[in-house]
Amino acid sequence: MDRKAAKKRIGKLKKLINRYRYARLVLNREEISPEAEDALKKELFDLEQQFPELVAPDSPTQRVGGKPLKQFVKVRHEQPMLSFNDAFGEEDMRAWLLRLENYLGRSARANTEGSFYCELKIDGLAIELVYENGILVRGSTRGDGHVGEDVTQNLKTIEAIPLTLHGIAKRAVPKRLVVRGEVFMNKKDFERLNREQEKKGLARYANPRNVAAGSVRQLDPAVIAARRLDSFQYDLVTDLGQKTHEETHRILHELGFRTNPHNRAVKGLEGVFEFHASSIRNREKLSYEIDGIVVIVNRNADFAAGGVIGKAPRGAIAYKFSPKEATTQILDIRVQVGRTGALTPVAVMKPVSVGGVTITHATLHNEDEIKRLGLTIGDTVVVSRAGDVIPQITKVLTELRTGREKMFAMPKRCPVDGSRVVKEGAIARCSNSRCGARNRELLYHFVSRAAFDIRGLGPKIIDRFLDEGLMTDAPDIFALPAGDIAALERFGEKSAENLVREIGGKKNITLPRFLYALGILHVGEETARVLARAIEKARRAHAPLDVLAWGEKLNAADLETLPDVGPVVSRSITGYFKERRNRDLLKKFDRAGITFISSAHEGKKLAGKIFVFTGGLSSLEREEAKERVRAHGGEVSESVSKKNSYVVAGGEPGSKLEQAKKLDVPIIDEEEFLKLIK
Ligand SMILES: [Zn+2]
Repeated sequence: MDRKAAKKRIGKLKKLINRYRYARLVLNREEISPEAEDALKKELFDLEQQFPELVAPDSPTQRVGGKPLKQFVKVRHEQPMLSFNDAFGEEDMRAWLLRLENYLGRSARANTEGSFYCELKIDGLAIELVYENGILVRGSTRGDGHVGEDVTQNLKTIEAIPLTLHGIAKRAVPKRLVVRGEVFMNKKDFERLNREQEKKGLARYANPRNVAAGSVRQLDPAVIAARRLDSFQYDLVTDLGQKTHEETHRILHELGFRTNPHNRAVKGLEGVFEFHASSIRNREKLSYEIDGIVVIVNRNADFAAGGVIGKAPRGAIAYKFSPKEATTQILDIRVQVGRTGALTPVAVMKPVSVGGVTITHATLHNEDEIKRLGLTIGDTVVVSRAGDVIPQITKVLTELRTGREKMFAMPKRCPVDGSRVVKEGAIARCSNSRCGARNRELLYHFVSRAAFDIRGLGPKIIDRFLDEGLMTDAPDIFALPAGDIAALERFGEKSAENLVREIGGKKNITLPRFLYALGILHVGEETARVLARAIEKARRAHAPLDVLAWGEKLNAADLETLPDVGPVVSRSITGYFKERRNRDLLKKFDRAGITFISSAHEGKKLAGKIFVFTGGLSSLEREEAKERVRAHGGEVSESVSKKNSYVVAGGEPGSKLEQAKKLDVPIIDEEEFLKLIK
């Protein structure tokens, strides 16, 4: 995005986020889920990072919470209560560390033992507590970060907050003590509250966070007492000699505060990622909701040196879990043909992480659904994933339109066979009643044993991929997105990856198998072999484009000189190459990276597999490894391309490894390689 477009987008994002905030905080009306709102804030934050001169003081990224309500006494915090910027993935975390180190002008000692302190991020309300001579004298909300609300009476109703430290402190109680923490509602109390609401015929509360926040700001302390809120303390404003954040937690604990036992110091970003992953695994078992982890530079001196940018410290970040809702942009709307010939529009989106998977497709069911959503191509949308079901587009953010969006129109011709499209009520159909079923049969044939032999792609799975719009024709098989597959019910990330890996390994195929796989009428395995010999006699055939070049020059008379090819077969073959759609298909196969291997190698263990080596191997020399690959019928390439089957990464791998990641070429280590050549 250039600066001009970014400026426009930032302006629109700011306005929209502010409108949602107003509705939520002032009108008590949730127009969009907090997660989707976060996704918009994240986009704004990223744009502002890219164009720092466009950050305005009124940007939502520069704000913390809401202004204090008039009814409460205002409290000025001794030190501003900061909030955290959000990270949504490992890449964001690496970028955060890089920004911090750039600012510090040195290493942040990130890779030393206990370099980061990780905390569970509870979805609650931040508070500050002041103790004088060990007695709780004031409790306040964060407010705008500088001025909060005095909610002492309300906080006193929460059992987890000590009213006095005397009798519980295991160390000397300072004369004056300022600590900070979180007030939240446990899951079972939230459920109980909602059951009571229902009994009274009232609406259910949307989430525990809203209830906790609303309760703390209740004017009547009796209400909050009935709600049984909970609290953890996690920060110490008073200097008691703490050198690290870990020590802060220990001191809080020794003073008698409730601290979260799951929090701990870890080593480096790798340790952070482990903590993040294990927190996701344990999430359901916790008695309270968490929406991520907070990562803090453990050494207080480094944390302080990082300073503050906007309203957030550079030395800490909220590393959120993949949200169940996110926003993304619609790149295109394609049409997919169902078994009965019904045409289903499918949205192609900018990759978006939602519910733990990265997806690029969402089915739109029918034209009416597009009308109901008011969706146009180029729109920014909210994508939701509830549980393990397929993500859905639930909302169009029309406020973010640029004027360059395009309306979707159902095509007049079927994308599979070019037949006329007819309308039956809301449903558009291919007028060729056999079209949908025929397309499926062709695909079943394409992956069958004697053709491409893709074991993981049975008819049932092909049906589902077609129905969800993940593919429409055979070349699409080689571009199946692992994230979208993982998002399907009963598919996991692991099985999705295995399937994509298996398919990647089938891109190199013998010419007879390829010709057979095309499903040309009357061309069985034997005829395919005859044709392959004829093609190879005429030219060196490396890839589908060579088949196309041969097919375009075909004449029926030449074909009929071949064994087993009579007039009927010959007409079918020449007819195949005359059809534009088939010629386009061959070009698409070529772009997908299909290459032909010699039949002599077929049956050998690594036939058709192309290896690239990077980094040193410990148990054998590079040359020896190459020979072993060739002995098993495989090939070795010096450069990484989409056509490679494996990149073998040894010790200290070079730039080839990065390239392989970019191109999604499977990467294996020495151990896996040794298994392959055994
Ligand atoms: Zn059709």
